[in-house]
Amino acid sequence: MLNRRKLIKRLTALPVVGGLVGSGLPLQSAQALPKQPKRDLFKELGIRTFINAAGTLTFMTGSLMQDEVLETINFAAKEFCLLDEVQDKVGEKIAKLVHSESAVVTSGAFSAITLGLAGVLTGTDQKKVEQLPHLEYTGMKSEVIIQKGHDIVYKQALTNTGCKVVFVETAEEVEKAINERTAMMWFLHIQSDKGKIQHEEWVALGKKHNIPTMIDIAADVPPVENLWKFNDMGFDLVCISGGKAMRGPQSAGLLMGKKNLIAAARMHMPPRGFTIGRGMKINKEEILGMYVALEKFINLDHDKIWKQWEEGIAHIDNAIKKVDGVQTKTHVPPLGNHTPTLEVTWDKNKVKLEKQDLITNLRNGNPSIEVGGGGPDAFSVTVWMMKPGQEKIVAKRLTEEFSKATV
Ligand SMILES: *Cc1c(COP(=O)(O)O)cnc(C)c1O
Repeated sequence: MLNRRKLIKRLTALPVVGGLVGSGLPLQSAQALPKQPKRDLFKELGIRTFINAAGTLTFMTGSLMQDEVLETINFAAKEFCLLDEVQDKVGEKIAKLVHSESAVVTSGAFSAITLGLAGVLTGTDQKKVEQLPHLEYTGMKSEVIIQKGHDIVYKQALTNTGCKVVFVETAEEVEKAINERTAMMWFLHIQSDKGKIQHEEWVALGKKHNIPTMIDIAADVPPVENLWKFNDMGFDLVCISGGKAMRGPQSAGLLMGKKNLIAAARMHMPPRGFTIGRGMKINKEEILGMYVALEKFINLDHDKIWKQWEEGIAHIDNAIKKVDGVQTKTHVPPLGNHTPTLEVTWDKNKVKLEKQDLITNLRNGNPSIEVGGGGPDAFSVTVWMMKPGQEKIVAKRLTEEFSKATV
């Protein structure tokens, strides 16, 4: 053991700035060392960063987490705890916030769909859990009913369980499609205008035939009320992304719903192996980060934020409209990505600019900018994923590009 005098001698010999010696705690020397400049890994590795005028897109890494969420992740990273205990405690809190019996943080809405359906198929029967995705000769059900208009790429989340998708259009067809193999009825909110059967009727049909109903509302906040609306409505399971408008971890989502179904879904989740969900791991950092993001999102001043979005869009709109030949339209998608969105087109006789060139110029500019999709000669702009002030840069860059191309 070092005596105090020797310790002080050693400490004072270290190249350390003041305030340390009196404390006599060698561990603190790390804090007192001069701060290393932060590594900029984007620069170091040559990864392009950009202003996101497009929206909450997975290929653009979704959304930016807020400081409270990042602090939570940092905090959570410094202790061990039991994974199931975090899910238990966080799940209880989340369930209260969203009016569901139970809830669990998943690794995104996609995995919420897979895990929720897996739970419906197996219940809490461990043997069945291990059999997935093989359903034949197991006694498990194997069909999910969805409306033709609700067919999207993400239905893979359903078929990953081994289930097959059965398409219907009318309530009559639902009645006909239901049989002893029917496991679940799935509803896609973002395309609810493309289906003939609306939410309440879907839930009623499920209840009538004692078949659980699930809704995908992955991209459907705002409005914030959607977090509880479909739980209140009677859907047995509700799936949402955590890393879209809620700005939780991009690798997080929520599965909300009936207690027995959430318990069954968790049978397929880590830490348990022998499950189709073992690869859908989500750790304490993301679980707690998601909880804090959800809480923060619910408590936001949504009216104020909406006004800021409108102002941002109006700023860009007013700037680029000044270029002769540029046409704009502001609209709010009623279903999904519900945020003021500027649709931009231009008269090619007045503005000689190919869309792809514009995209490339914006991308290669400084700072780099990504805009949203649109028709062949159109694109869209949103401001909800921008940092304050970036709308000015986007307005300026778009105006520059359009002005350069005017004839
Ligand atoms: C984004 C999205 C998903 C996938 O959500 P993740 O959280 O990225 O897993 C599923 N369904 C719809 C409708 C979506 O928009």
